[in-house]
Amino acid sequence: PTTAPELALPTSAALFERAKNHIPGGVNSPVRAFRAVGGHPVFMQSAKGAWLTDVDGNQYLDFINSWGPMILGHAPDIVLDAVQAAIPASLSFGAPTRREVEMAELIKQMVPSIEKVRLVNSGTEATMSAIRVARGYTGRNKIIKFEGCYHGHGDSFLIAAGSGALTLGTPDSPGVTEGVAQDTLTVPYNDLPAVQHIIEVNEGQVAALILEPVVGNMGLVAPQEGYLQGLRDLCTQHGIVLIFDEVMTGFRLARGGAQELYGITPDMTTLGKIIGGGMPVGAYGGRQDIMDNVAPAGKVYQAGTLSGNPIATAAGIAQLTYLQEHPELYDELNRITTRLADGTRQIAAELGLNYTVNQVGSMFSVFFTDKPVHNLADAKHSDTEAFGRYFRAMLHRGIYLAPAQYEALFVSTAITDELVEVYLTACREAMREAHGL
Ligand code: PMP
Repeated sequence: PTTAPELALPTSAALFERAKNHIPGGVNSPVRAFRAVGGHPVFMQSAKGAWLTDVDGNQYLDFINSWGPMILGHAPDIVLDAVQAAIPASLSFGAPTRREVEMAELIKQMVPSIEKVRLVNSGTEATMSAIRVARGYTGRNKIIKFEGCYHGHGDSFLIAAGSGALTLGTPDSPGVTEGVAQDTLTVPYNDLPAVQHIIEVNEGQVAALILEPVVGNMGLVAPQEGYLQGLRDLCTQHGIVLIFDEVMTGFRLARGGAQELYGITPDMTTLGKIIGGGMPVGAYGGRQDIMDNVAPAGKVYQAGTLSGNPIATAAGIAQLTYLQEHPELYDELNRITTRLADGTRQIAAELGLNYTVNQVGSMFSVFFTDKPVHNLADAKHSDTEAFGRYFRAMLHRGIYLAPAQYEALFVSTAITDELVEVYLTACREAMREAHGL
């Protein structure tokens, strides 16, 4: 196998050493520490389009895209221009502004199941608030979530959570009380009878069922045929609020997210990332009769000093408007991603590895197992050691992948056919290097 030359990362290494003295684990979000893949993180300096540049001047093709929001690639002019135009008018008012209204209108147009929407500052805030509202609305305490789904770091969700909580092997976090944990019921993904059973055992006690309609946080896992409709029917039958957490899938898998793609209408939806174009933002919304329980319209309290921030809404409106006006962009994103996913699958097959590559729209994952992956137990068949070697081999060839097996990759419109070839060439070499082939 060809081995890529070692990357020179002296500035990243030095910054990480400094960071560890001041920041827990040296990072402000666990996955960034590269714990699952070895080595130390790469500190970034700038990015444009498909390319990242680190603090040592190395360049990488980006397949994380800030975990989703940079769907148009990095620093697109339309978003930067909108932000620059907004800056002189002040960075925050803590009072209502015109753009908050425009943003709400835009979200409602693109995601028709949302009749009213509240802006917050992160996906975590969106999901925490959504279940509070569902509890207030139903007068019930329990929620159902799925093993390996991640909904941010709210206490109620750190039970059998995916993403960084899964990678670090601490899905049940210290600091979450037993009382909270008891109100979170967990079941395997893609198993309808399991959901039916847990609802029946807890009849009349379940406020909400929350899920990623396409899971990005145990690697990419698609809902099986009929699964989302089955959940919809169960929730309707038992008076349970169905919440689609579309923080990753919203405005990405289609203009209207996974709910548009699969034709299923949830009662509530949580959003984040993409709607801020890279600025810190989130949102939750849904049926009017449910959302009118939120203060000051109703009694369920939820607030935020910086919510609806003028710069975040400027960036978000610019990006969402672009997505709305360019529906053709989704077909192209999907075509490019299919080339990446199929190409990876073929390379793994040629090498006799037969790895499972899951793809939905512009999200995909390479599971280092030859078994199909429909849930967390399946995902855990993956050879995470080999994945770590592959990740490093790709990084050294200038390809920036998610630094853990249990994460999805996000493709931006900046990836051209030519760049697909760059990726596939690196993939073939890195697969061989990682397996000594
Ligand atoms: N829900 C989902 C589906 C997510 O993927 C994430 C973050 N990756 C969150 C919620 C939490 O969002 P944030 O990191 O913005 O708090």
